[in-house]
Amino acid sequence: MALRRILHYPEPLLRQVSQPVTDVDDEIRELARDMAETMYAAPGVGLAAPQVGVLKRLIVLDCARQDEEAQLITAINPEILAGEGEINEEEGCLSVPGYYARVARRPQVRVRFLNLEGQRVEMDAEGLLAVAFQHEIDHLDGVLFVDHLSSLKKSLFKKKYKKILEQKQEEL
Ligand code: ZN
Repeated sequence: MALRRILHYPEPLLRQVSQPVTDVDDEIRELARDMAETMYAAPGVGLAAPQVGVLKRLIVLDCARQDEEAQLITAINPEILAGEGEINEEEGCLSVPGYYARVARRPQVRVRFLNLEGQRVEMDAEGLLAVAFQHEIDHLDGVLFVDHLSSLKKSLFKKKYKKILEQKQEEL
C-alpha cells in the first residue's frame, strides 16, 4: 500500500473525463487500496481516481461518523440511476483545499457499480453518502463542486482560492 499524491485545482488533469474500467484486476485493486489509504490519511470522506492522477472510473467513499466503524465503499464504473429531492449541504474537496461551499444535490440516490470482485452492485444511498457519490462521480467527468456555484459565488471562489494558493506558496 502506498499514499498517492492528491492533485489540486487548477491542475488540468482534474478537468478530463475518466475512462471506464474494463478489467477488475490486481492493478485496479491495488489502486483502490492506495486510494482508500490516501483518503483516510487526508482525511476525507471520498476520493476519485483522477484526483490521484489516474483517469479511470473508480471512487472510494467512507461516510461513517467518527463514533462508527469504518464503512469503506469502493465503486468501479459508478452510475447514478435515479435521484430525488434537493439538499444544500456544505461541501469541501481534497483537490480544492481550504474552500467550502453549499451545493445543491440529491439527498437520495440509487447507484450502480462494480465491486472489487467485479460483481455488479445496486444500492440506495441517503444523506452524506448520497452527496458523496454525486461529488465523486462528478470528478470522473472532470466536474468539481465549485462548478455548481452561481456565477457570483464562482468569482468569489476564484478570488478566495487565489489567496489560499498564495498562502500555500509562502508556507513552502
Ligand atoms: Zn472532490
